[in-house]
Amino acid sequence: MEIKDLLRENIRRMAPYSTARDEYQGDIGIYLDANENPYENGFNRYPDPHQKELRQRIARLKGVDPAQVFIGNGSDEPIDLVYRMFCEPRIHNAVSITPTYGMYKVAAATNDVEFREVLLGADFSVNAENVLAATDENTRLVWLCSPNNPSANLLDRNEIEKILVRFPGIVVIDEAYIDFAGEAGFLPVLKTYPNLVVLQTLSKAWGLAGLRLGLAFAQPAVVDVMGKVKYPYNINCITQKLVMEHLARPETVAAQVAELVAERKKALEELAKLSVIRKVFPADANFMLIRVDAPRKVYNALIAEGVIVRDRSRIAGCEGCLRITVGTPAENQKMLALLKTM
Ligand SMILES: *Cc1c(COP(=O)(O)O)cnc(C)c1O
Repeated sequence: MEIKDLLRENIRRMAPYSTARDEYQGDIGIYLDANENPYENGFNRYPDPHQKELRQRIARLKGVDPAQVFIGNGSDEPIDLVYRMFCEPRIHNAVSITPTYGMYKVAAATNDVEFREVLLGADFSVNAENVLAATDENTRLVWLCSPNNPSANLLDRNEIEKILVRFPGIVVIDEAYIDFAGEAGFLPVLKTYPNLVVLQTLSKAWGLAGLRLGLAFAQPAVVDVMGKVKYPYNINCITQKLVMEHLARPETVAAQVAELVAERKKALEELAKLSVIRKVFPADANFMLIRVDAPRKVYNALIAEGVIVRDRSRIAGCEGCLRITVGTPAENQKMLALLKTM
């Protein structure tokens, strides 16, 4: 499978915007090339459009090559970009599991691309045959999310590999929650599957949701095109700088993740004992999915006490379900104590 054969015609042919920083790449001199205000205030210069330093840092952290790393303004950016790169509006389609993260469908709609949903099993397991059966010769993208949001479970690795091997288009695996799952995910096999795009983010385990930093990992041919299609200065200089500083302290984040995983284990055990709860689903992410008889009532009762969870009960496959993020030990205690009284 050649990436260039999957790209939309207009994307294959386009010449990217060339920034002032593309034409001159030294870092000392008198910059009269970008129409910036010359008086230094910390932000008067355009940021690095290719995020060279940050990409190298993230590549080292993740054990991949910088040419395999795309940095986006949140995960939303690469989610939108893959539609723009690979899907001809009203001709091509995308296949996704359901229930899953809502942005794959929203981005399909804004790009006028047909979106097909394949229901997961009652235990939220994925079946490769069902996913493949929903594809046809116009399917360009398959969306998977593991651990999946909102169901919280890792998808079966063998089923994902079957899809990667047999689907002749792009398979996107969203690993926003992989740091909580206790397994490496698909980055180690990035080279094995030329059609694989892995999404990760600094918004969850890394605690940087407010800075907006999403990551896509793929073969260099895909990352190159993402770099051409994106807005030139998609990551502002404050984000680039603060992320570099934050990535220098991975121990802090590792300790927080370990605590959140331990809290999740405790909370899952406690939730299973409560009479208000019909079912507690297994969780590999920093949130848990529970099923109750009267989800809206439980949701409102929690809100009345200042605890906000996510009502997912109107989503197909999630009937009766609430999604609860793992918080600090004190926050989790409060949430459990409230549910115990219901
Ligand atoms: C939270 C989340 C993201 C992260 O989105 P950002 O735009 O990077 O903050 C991506 N995918 C899933 C499934 C999520 O739940």
